[in-house]
Amino acid sequence: MKQKRWMGPVVFAMVGVLCLLFFIQGGRDTPETLSYPDFWFLAEEGLVDKVAMGGGDMWQVTLKDGAKAQTPDPRAQDGKERLLKLNIEVQERESAGPGLALGAVLLLALLFFAQARDRGAAGLKKFAAVQVDERVPQVTLKDVAVPPETLQSIRDLADFLKEPRKFGEYGARAPRGVMLYGPPGTGKTLLARALAGEAKAPFFAMGGADFVQVYVGVGASRVRELFRKARKAGGGVIFIDEIDAIGKKRDSANDEREQTLNALLTEMSGFSGEDGVIVLAATNRLDTLDPALLREGRFDRRIEVGLPDCAQRLKILQVHARKKPLAPSVSLERWAEQTALFSGAQLETLLNEAAIRAARRSGGQILECDVEKAFCSVTVGEDSPRRMTEEEKRVTAWHEAGHALITRRLLPKARLTRVTIIPSSRGAAGYSMSVQPDQLLHTRQELMGMLCAALGGRAAEEMLLGWENVTTGAANDLKKARDIASAMAGEFMMGESGDAEEDKKALLAQAMEETRRILSQNLDALEALSDALIKRETLREEEIAEILG
Ligand code: ADP
Ligand code: MG
Ligand code: ZN
Repeated sequence: MKQKRWMGPVVFAMVGVLCLLFFIQGGRDTPETLSYPDFWFLAEEGLVDKVAMGGGDMWQVTLKDGAKAQTPDPRAQDGKERLLKLNIEVQERESAGPGLALGAVLLLALLFFAQARDRGAAGLKKFAAVQVDERVPQVTLKDVAVPPETLQSIRDLADFLKEPRKFGEYGARAPRGVMLYGPPGTGKTLLARALAGEAKAPFFAMGGADFVQVYVGVGASRVRELFRKARKAGGGVIFIDEIDAIGKKRDSANDEREQTLNALLTEMSGFSGEDGVIVLAATNRLDTLDPALLREGRFDRRIEVGLPDCAQRLKILQVHARKKPLAPSVSLERWAEQTALFSGAQLETLLNEAAIRAARRSGGQILECDVEKAFCSVTVGEDSPRRMTEEEKRVTAWHEAGHALITRRLLPKARLTRVTIIPSSRGAAGYSMSVQPDQLLHTRQELMGMLCAALGGRAAEEMLLGWENVTTGAANDLKKARDIASAMAGEFMMGESGDAEEDKKALLAQAMEETRRILSQNLDALEALSDALIKRETLREEEIAEILG
């Protein structure tokens, strides 16, 4: 015990020395110098995060992307006001340096002792007091580019938030929990904010990491507080970002996570739609979530937010180009075509980088070469998007066209709602989505049709590339085909010989042959479909119908 007492001051002395070193070090490296006009260009483009002045004859500038720079201090009267009007954080340092560092160390020490002293219930309460930004967000749905279906789902939620009672009067069940899921950077957080902004409702947001704390029980009490605040405000959007942090499948015992999750589930079942509260959560991976979260009455509405296709990428680029001085020669259409597999966030970074380059050039306008250079830097960076090569596009398009064509020819009752070459969050290279008619019984012919449709991708690849060059992209399809064939041969006794294993093989061979035959008889249609896919990346029901006649 005694030993521990004097350990504290020693640790702080060490931290103090480190801080000092840090400050001295910080003064040494000189960041890039921006000319004063360039600086204002960046500032007006909204690319500057904060400016520290008063620490010498330079302003220390931090850009939104974290980069540091400096620009001469003009010693003008209105500089600060102009910055503040642009919503840029301004720090004025009077006499920075060791004094400040010492102050910081003292403060740290105080905090630590205060914390160590009341680790009991009182301390817990204090830690539970969360900082929630509950203002109505400025963003609205105008700032988000998502497919029309997604936009409509969010509009519906906004309508509900605007007039929760109206829905009740008509006996409609109020939405409770909505799960946004899809790859990182596709705009889930943005959508949640835009929903609140659109409905002019307050926004209560927390990241999953806020909940998983060292102290057991803190996460749970934060959840309760979040809901309490929303109720007190008379409704709004509660947003739980990165819910995976608390909502992972309960594989290992983790008390803290479990308690937090339970608190969330309890709170969610405790409010009625009339409160005008909507709970939104976001995750990159739906399949890792605890099924309890997805059950009826919890996050039972799910909205997939996928990687954008070509048309959506154009819209996203347009949204982010709105306030940028883009030269007329820059073709956003062409950039949308070049950026397959980019997420919304990566597209935003692309234009942002281009703007920074234009500013450094003092060019006045963003030119094609700025975007070109930005593109190169974005695609070599650490979380760079995977590049989709032309060849990859061609093979995937041909593969998906194969599935689609066979589905249309052999399963006339199935609705082919969407074919795309943009990978889904489920991991397939591309996919065809068909809705099978709701029926209890399937004929042998229908099962055969499903079997052929599953093989359509591989068969098409084989026609395009030859047997030697077929890819592993069909692994899931082949598993599905084997499952269908084995059910047909086994459970349903639809084979010729009655020997399950032999029948399965025969059915597969027969289906493959049939598939090849249909594809080669419809080469024109196959080609038209795959060309359209290469160009538009995603085809909707009407477009498919139009191409296939
Ligand atoms: P996620 O939460 O899905 O990881 P974010 O919402 O944090 O993605 O996206 C980060 C940024 O990328 C957004 O603030 C926005 O600038 C841009 N962005 C992403 N998706 C879109 C989109 N669909 N439309 C417009 N901007 C987008
Ligand atoms: Mg997010
Ligand atoms: Zn396939």
